[in-house]
Amino acid sequence: MRRDRDAVPDALNLLDDRRPAQREAALQLLAILERSSRTDPTMNLAAASEHSGRFPRSEPKASGELHQDAPRIGLTGAPGAGKSTLLDALVRALRARGETIGIVAVDPSSRVSGGALLGDRARVRAGASDRGVFLRSMAARERLGGLADATWPSIAVLAAVFDRVFVETVGVGQSEAEVADLVDTLVLVAQPGAGDVLQFMKAGILEHPDVFAVNKADLGATAERTASELQAALAMAAHDASGWQRPVLLVSARDGSGVAELVAALDAHRAHLVACGALAARRQRARIAFVLDALERRYGAFGIERLGGRDAVHARLLAEPEGAGAAFGLGLAREIEAALRKPS
Ligand code: GDP
Repeated sequence: MRRDRDAVPDALNLLDDRRPAQREAALQLLAILERSSRTDPTMNLAAASEHSGRFPRSEPKASGELHQDAPRIGLTGAPGAGKSTLLDALVRALRARGETIGIVAVDPSSRVSGGALLGDRARVRAGASDRGVFLRSMAARERLGGLADATWPSIAVLAAVFDRVFVETVGVGQSEAEVADLVDTLVLVAQPGAGDVLQFMKAGILEHPDVFAVNKADLGATAERTASELQAALAMAAHDASGWQRPVLLVSARDGSGVAELVAALDAHRAHLVACGALAARRQRARIAFVLDALERRYGAFGIERLGGRDAVHARLLAEPEGAGAAFGLGLAREIEAALRKPS
């Protein structure tokens, strides 16, 4: 809570610890982090400046809901689209304006061979000596439950300490919806090439991203064609209910063109979410996805059925009292346990 970077590895280890006492402690930690994300930013600034080695906020956030909480941004796209390279370019641009960055790199595919995990290259290039960048890499085999179950707690911890959090994941259809649940802003990194946009449409991928970045703009006409195809597809797709116009940007991670515009689009989307009051709803959506995934991993579909099924549990989470947070999920877990003990 004092933004101590050295506490981050311990906090992440605690989240991974499956022993009962540690799991309780992890839930308490998450509840505290959620509460602190609603506090007055000036208090945290004061606390941060008391100790060296802790990051002050690089800039006090404008007034509005959840002001002192870091933007959470998802980057998704097919393997080879250039996510790692683009993330590297984004990190450099944001570091240049003094922001600290936390990255959660998760590979939802079973691609475990080949050595380097997704995100490792970003760490290599960012340099181990830069304490303003922290990378958490997660392999598919570490995932026991859904994407939210595995990543939401890590995102919450990094968001408490760093100015901005990126979640990098390989797009494989279903995963776009899962990542969209976890972040404030989802960026689809598209690869220039014929037929890709059609595939996106078929897979239902176009619904989820808030920003489209057609990478490899240095390839010229192919990239421009993909961008206009995307634009045409979006014009036909359903409009964002909150009134956000989803931009299609041409970027080149390689030569850096369009990266500043991408940063501006991220800032604009964040400002839009705050202005229309949708940020709190997105955060609640992420928390609910986490609780549902965690309950499902622990008790299975059978356990969820004891409370009337996934939809019924979802409805109860939506109606949860303000500020109940992770503790509310604990209450549901107790209910499931009680129901499972009852002879049917
Ligand atoms: P990821 O699998 O989506 O993370 O993609 P990578 O970042 O590993 O990039 C895949 C390949 O595309 C690499 O060979 C990169 O050098 C290349 N690449 C990435 N960005 C660009 C770009 O802006 N222009 C060009 N021409 N190549 C790029």
